[in-house]
Amino acid sequence: MPRHFVHNKNLSPPMFENKFFDYFSRVHFSIVLIVYVPVVCWFLYQSVYNYNLAFTIIITLLLFGLFCWSIMEYTLHRFVFHYHPVSKAGKRIHFILHGVHHDFPSDSRRLVMPPGASIPLAVVIWYACYGIFGSVYAAPFFQDLLLDTLFMT
Ligand SMILES: [Zn+2]
Repeated sequence: MPRHFVHNKNLSPPMFENKFFDYFSRVHFSIVLIVYVPVVCWFLYQSVYNYNLAFTIIITLLLFGLFCWSIMEYTLHRFVFHYHPVSKAGKRIHFILHGVHHDFPSDSRRLVMPPGASIPLAVVIWYACYGIFGSVYAAPFFQDLLLDTLFMT
């Protein structure tokens, strides 16, 4: 059986020559929880107390968000993260986006997306949800996408 990783020990190879970017390419998973769980709670609070959404609507939108995220995650993984670039720049971008995760799957400091990358992504996803569902229904849908985004590697 062929080996599909460079190293399966808890090693964290440099991703960037720039020490600043390299330092912030690593994060303990608890940092992501500390950053996003309050945001998720705030959106839940908005759904329940400010928008007075029924429990069944919130649960339905959460489940719909989970379904949509599963489709998006699979599509992203299949067609972007596992794309086989041929150019040097393409290989570099692929390594930064996902290749490092496959080359060093046991790197405990790259299990989740660092906030420097996930916050801009979450903002883009929020505005997409807001544009599609409007402010009232976007909140419960977005909570699930937000939680799932954190754990995307
Ligand atoms: Zn993968």
